[in-house]
Amino acid sequence: MKIVVLDGHTLNPGDIAWDGMKKLGSLTVHERTAEADILSRIGEAEAVITNKTPLTRETIAAKPNIKYIGVLATGYNVVDVEAAKERGIPVTNIPTYGTAAVSQYVFALLLEICHHVAHHAKTVADGRWEKSADFCYWDYPLIELAGKTMGIIGFGRIGQAVGRIAEAFGMNVLAFDERWNEALETEKTKYAPLDEVLSKSDVVSLHVPLFDSTKGMINRASIAKMKPGVIVINTSRGPLVVEADMAAALESGKVYHYGTDVVSTEPVLPENPLPRAKNCFVTPHIAWAPKEARTRLMNIAVENLAQFQKGTPVNVVNN
Ligand code: NAD
Repeated sequence: MKIVVLDGHTLNPGDIAWDGMKKLGSLTVHERTAEADILSRIGEAEAVITNKTPLTRETIAAKPNIKYIGVLATGYNVVDVEAAKERGIPVTNIPTYGTAAVSQYVFALLLEICHHVAHHAKTVADGRWEKSADFCYWDYPLIELAGKTMGIIGFGRIGQAVGRIAEAFGMNVLAFDERWNEALETEKTKYAPLDEVLSKSDVVSLHVPLFDSTKGMINRASIAKMKPGVIVINTSRGPLVVEADMAAALESGKVYHYGTDVVSTEPVLPENPLPRAKNCFVTPHIAWAPKEARTRLMNIAVENLAQFQKGTPVNVVNN
């Protein structure tokens, strides 16, 4: 089987191995693929592996050899899964590799907002503490999480892991999901309708996938329902948030701080207002990328293709 990886560099910049996939066929790995090269790079491949390179309806239609599409990520919005389904092509994703890494990263962003560790360490490195009249100083409000409410939008694998960590910090958790599983409720964690999650939470963390139904769900109207001074965290997908509305809410102080690992177009565009907005941390989509998580991702990607070859496909998102 001819296998092509269109954009392997971010998964494996050289610190893990492609050996497992090599055993499954004749493998070509491209570090990255520009839009203009997608068709020629796919060539006659039967298995196409992508991380963020888009596979549109037109591309799928133009390549009748494709029998399998593997996405090297949890979110699979880069593939037109309906077009693939119409052609009988299973699209697989990697559902679980990143739960620990991404939920940990939510708190990396949140704790940075609560304490501004990097900023304060920089002021010390710059010599300011040496000259301080007092034994301590701080430049931002310092925030204790215990007793505050964490609103989680999308209470799936990552959302639930975030909930468990929030509970460990002494927070109450309000969860919104289109499917409610009361067995997941605890003394401190309860489901609530979206409006209640928005209006009662001190921190709102986004964990729904990007679908037409979730695109732009954090906008001027939904932000208006939030508490003044709310903190919003996004480790899911940039287009869940209308970025101009978020920039305006940061400017007005309605949202105290936005911490996001994802933006509407990645890499970020120069005209995106968020990186230079007041009280906003934007990081370059790194929540998923600890080596431990990437190794797990690689192993699952290999297993997904192996199972497809055996005729028992797993992790198919377009059944
Ligand atoms: P999951 O499928 O386990 O959970 C998603 C949850 O959202 C499900 O419980 C589902 O019922 C719910 N949901 C779907 N549509 C909804 C809607 N319209 N309204 C309310 N709830 C809805 O997925 P997961 O493993 O928790 O991952 C969540 C997302 O995190 C992924 O889709 C991906 O976009 C993102 N992610 C980001 C990174 C990163 O590096 N930043 C890494 C991995 C995953």
